[in-house]
Amino acid sequence: MRFLIVNVSDILQEAGSVLSIQNSLNLGNITWQGEPLRFKEPLSITGTLTNSGGALILNADIRGKIILQCGSCLESFEKNLDFTVKARLVGPSNNTEPDDFVFEGVEVDISDMVWEFLLLEIPIRRRCKDPCKGLCPECGVNLNRETCQCAGSEESDQSLALDQRLQVLKDYFSAESKEV
Ligand SMILES: [Zn+2]
Ligand SMILES: [Zn+2]
Repeated sequence: MRFLIVNVSDILQEAGSVLSIQNSLNLGNITWQGEPLRFKEPLSITGTLTNSGGALILNADIRGKIILQCGSCLESFEKNLDFTVKARLVGPSNNTEPDDFVFEGVEVDISDMVWEFLLLEIPIRRRCKDPCKGLCPECGVNLNRETCQCAGSEESDQSLALDQRLQVLKDYFSAESKEV
């Protein structure tokens, strides 16, 4: 995982001072919970760090695209990311809230905060589309793209039966028309 270091020396002294952030974060390829998370391009990060007196408040909009794996058909699909990171950064001696991020010195790495909020954006049930037909449990073909004999057998039996019934009707009518 790459870092995104922001130098906060300009805003550390004075409460109320604001530092704008306009940056990009390249997360590359990550394995998370045994699954690949891929990013086509760096995430764009736009926002501010504000000295609130005693803490730095990060407020940033994150945009980008993540490539996830469908849990049903195992194909990759793209999901747009657009979320806000709000976090409180404090020095080691001010660390009172459980959600606080701790920083030391004049350099703050905001990639941890982006990452933490990013994970909330990843759906537990990952589907390429809704509904995804998934893979055939018999032969393994992707049923979104192909049909197979095993999956279609029930359906073709039904349509065959329907064809037979229509054929009977056809015969009936043609027999009748012959009599007329
Ligand atoms: Zn799928
Ligand atoms: Zn099949």
